[in-house]
Amino acid sequence: MGDTHRLYYTDSRLTEFTTHVVTVKPAEGRTAIRLEQTAFYPTSGGQPHDTGWIEDQPVVDVVDGEDGSVWHIVDGSPTLAMGETVAGRIDWPRRFDHMQQHTGQHILSAELARLLGAQTVGFHLGVEAATIDLDRSLVLEDMAVAELAANAVVWDDRPVDVRFVTAEEATRLELRKPSRRSGRLRLVEIAGCDLSACGGTHVARTGSVGVIGVTTSERYKGGTRVGFVCGDRALRVFQSLRHQVRRSVTLLSVGPTELADAVERGQQERQAQRRVVRALRERLASTDAAELVATGQSVGGATVVLATRSGHDAKSLMSIAVRLVRAPGHVVVLVSDTRPVSLVVSRSADVDLDANAVIGEVTARWDARGGGRRDLAQAGGLDADPSEVLATAGTLVTESLAR
Ligand SMILES: [Zn+2]
Repeated sequence: MGDTHRLYYTDSRLTEFTTHVVTVKPAEGRTAIRLEQTAFYPTSGGQPHDTGWIEDQPVVDVVDGEDGSVWHIVDGSPTLAMGETVAGRIDWPRRFDHMQQHTGQHILSAELARLLGAQTVGFHLGVEAATIDLDRSLVLEDMAVAELAANAVVWDDRPVDVRFVTAEEATRLELRKPSRRSGRLRLVEIAGCDLSACGGTHVARTGSVGVIGVTTSERYKGGTRVGFVCGDRALRVFQSLRHQVRRSVTLLSVGPTELADAVERGQQERQAQRRVVRALRERLASTDAAELVATGQSVGGATVVLATRSGHDAKSLMSIAVRLVRAPGHVVVLVSDTRPVSLVVSRSADVDLDANAVIGEVTARWDARGGGRRDLAQAGGLDADPSEVLATAGTLVTESLAR
């Protein structure tokens, strides 16, 4: 049947076309349509397919066939007949976005190779991110020079030309990357910048790329994966960053250039405050322990202290508890006063009580987590009323001691 005539090869701005249906066939619950000629780009070379419509049917996927054909996938069962004349229309905003990113990629790859000797070995264009894989490791700062040079090419508004040569002719040309394809090759030339074999869609002049911005760089397979944005995507990234920076500078009451210093200062202050809080908690725990001992009740020869404490987590409740049980003959049960409740049970070395068994029964009742040793155990995340937890643990302790 021969190749599908690809209209986008020579006119990437063509959005509407008329043609004949060659084949219609079911394809996994959908319908695959082959046309005589098409402006639809099929997924290939790192660039995603176009979307659009054939008559009023949305085209959800476009794929390359094995024999040079292009297949348009639409939802539902076949409604078109072979030989029928149909109108096709591609989703232009999506296509133009791909053209901006793809042309930007050629320019950025060329400048990375020219200025930094980094060859592009992979390209992926996604809905959000576009990436280039380089054969050597580079950090973001290294790439600034290539980014500047690439944008100079954009603002030069140079022509982007397409021509066809034989594979044999191509060997005599200085392609950025030698092509392994045979037969007729489609070459894309960006004047004074790049000459590559490529089947993708590109803008007609570099100015349409708008701007190229490198966003990320990470180590990848011994080289570097570089994230970048062009044109409309670059503007959206700028808008999003502006929003974040504006919020941050307002919250921190500093100018944009002082942002990182202000965050660092804040982190240092928080660390210093944490140290102060720890020291104060320690002091509070010893005062608290002294007060609590006085509230103890005598049960089976031991002094049992049951109490609720505010502003404490399991860790700080434990630091109070261990102080209380340093003296012989003590058992202490402490709970936090907020939901979810933290609980600590501890006893002096000479008292016969399994604190861990008490915690086990309490956690089983409220389906919570906890554990510890026979002399000190704790539970956290109890979704219950603090006084109820305290009463339950208190009863378990009393019963155990009275035995
Ligand atoms: Zn290309």
